[in-house]
Amino acid sequence: MMTLPLVWRGDGQRFVVVGAGKVASRKIQTLVKAGAEVTVIAAQLNEEVLQLADQITLEKRQATADERFEAGTFLVLSTDNKALNSQLAKSGREQGCFICRVDDTADNDFMFPAVVDRSPLLISISSSGTSPALTRHVRQRIEAFIPQDYKILAEYVEALRDKIKALLPSKERAIFWRRWMNSLAPELILGRKPERVEAVTQEILNNEISAGEVWLVGAGPGDPDLLTFRALRLIQKADIVYYDRLVNPLILELISPDAERFYVGKEKSFHSVPQADINQLLVDSAKAGKKVLRLKGGDPFIFGRGGEEIEQLAESGVAFQVVPGITAASGCAAYAGIPLTHREYAQSVRFVTGHLKNDSCDLPWHELIHPNQTLVIYMGLGGLPLICENLINAGMPADTPIALIEKGTLPDQKVHIKTLETMPEFVSNNAISAPTLTIVGAVVSLYDKLQWR
Ligand code: SAH
Repeated sequence: MMTLPLVWRGDGQRFVVVGAGKVASRKIQTLVKAGAEVTVIAAQLNEEVLQLADQITLEKRQATADERFEAGTFLVLSTDNKALNSQLAKSGREQGCFICRVDDTADNDFMFPAVVDRSPLLISISSSGTSPALTRHVRQRIEAFIPQDYKILAEYVEALRDKIKALLPSKERAIFWRRWMNSLAPELILGRKPERVEAVTQEILNNEISAGEVWLVGAGPGDPDLLTFRALRLIQKADIVYYDRLVNPLILELISPDAERFYVGKEKSFHSVPQADINQLLVDSAKAGKKVLRLKGGDPFIFGRGGEEIEQLAESGVAFQVVPGITAASGCAAYAGIPLTHREYAQSVRFVTGHLKNDSCDLPWHELIHPNQTLVIYMGLGGLPLICENLINAGMPADTPIALIEKGTLPDQKVHIKTLETMPEFVSNNAISAPTLTIVGAVVSLYDKLQWR
């Protein structure tokens, strides 16, 4: 089943609830709270439903299969008679009603989500009918994260909204609100110091909006859980985002929906935006007063050209900060179970890039042949056969273990363990998806031992 999350207006909405057991009574309470017009048809009414008697229409009788409903009514079918629920679902639909069955979620037109209620702020959670236990679990976690006082915050924001609307044109409003939400103001309200909020609001209105800045942020190798706290904070605060190909789309979802975002990634042999243009875009956006997020895979200073980007920022007098990320080598090694150094096997580790230039790869091969050194090769898939051949020619034993890690740290990560001799054939006979990272050296032999089973 595919589902569509919507928020419906509650007041005046017509609901008929058939059956009034425990599950139904919770739904009736939700409906009454939302201001819906509720009719309950049931021979037996539980205590909680009876308490709502003056806010609902009660028909104390056994429902029958030939009930008539007005078109557009929301029907909640919760009798303990499955056959009756089925018949009513069918005839209800024929009469133009929307159906919610308590006994068969697969037959539903709508469902009741779990709700974290901080009205007017509502957070609804649904597992699309697949797992009420999961829904409850998530709801409990969110309950703990969003203090009860968010209600007060929501009310404050509602009141401030009109004032801001009158003061700022719509383009600036989005920037104002993002800054306000990320300022001290919400904490002050939650900390019961609303009298200090006005000054903070005024400061934001007075507009340091002209002070642009660039944040060069490492997004890690893929798994969003590997972001740093600082990266997350800046991702949420940015006005404009320039991101790379290797940034996981799940991380992009953390960007504020009203921030502008631009893909400036580089595909292999296809540079969608030349580096010089990216550097200039960052400078121009910051000079236009924006908080600019330059989001890069892994760590910005490891094969990320971060140095070039901030060089131009520094020359142009634009303020910037750099936030490190977990580089692919650390992420892939940890998630694959291959330590990069080990007292017995490797006392040093070397990161190199296997990028092909004019179909050749000019690495200092002899320097790389070091018995107690782990070699990590970034960007190496195309050139991997050539790299294996060169390492062997330079004197590295052909049976040296080598790991190829595909989509490291992502749910579909794959690890292929071969030797320098067997890897080229493996790569040419198998479909392998980018990005891939290669680890060469004795530490790779620990792979089998260090798996958690
Ligand atoms: N700044 C990045 C590296 C950019 S170069 C960092 O610190 O990780 C891009 C190369 O990184 C890719 O070609 C690939 O070799 C490697 N890489 C990045 N993410 C990876 C991942 N999830 N799995 C495997 N390799 C990855």
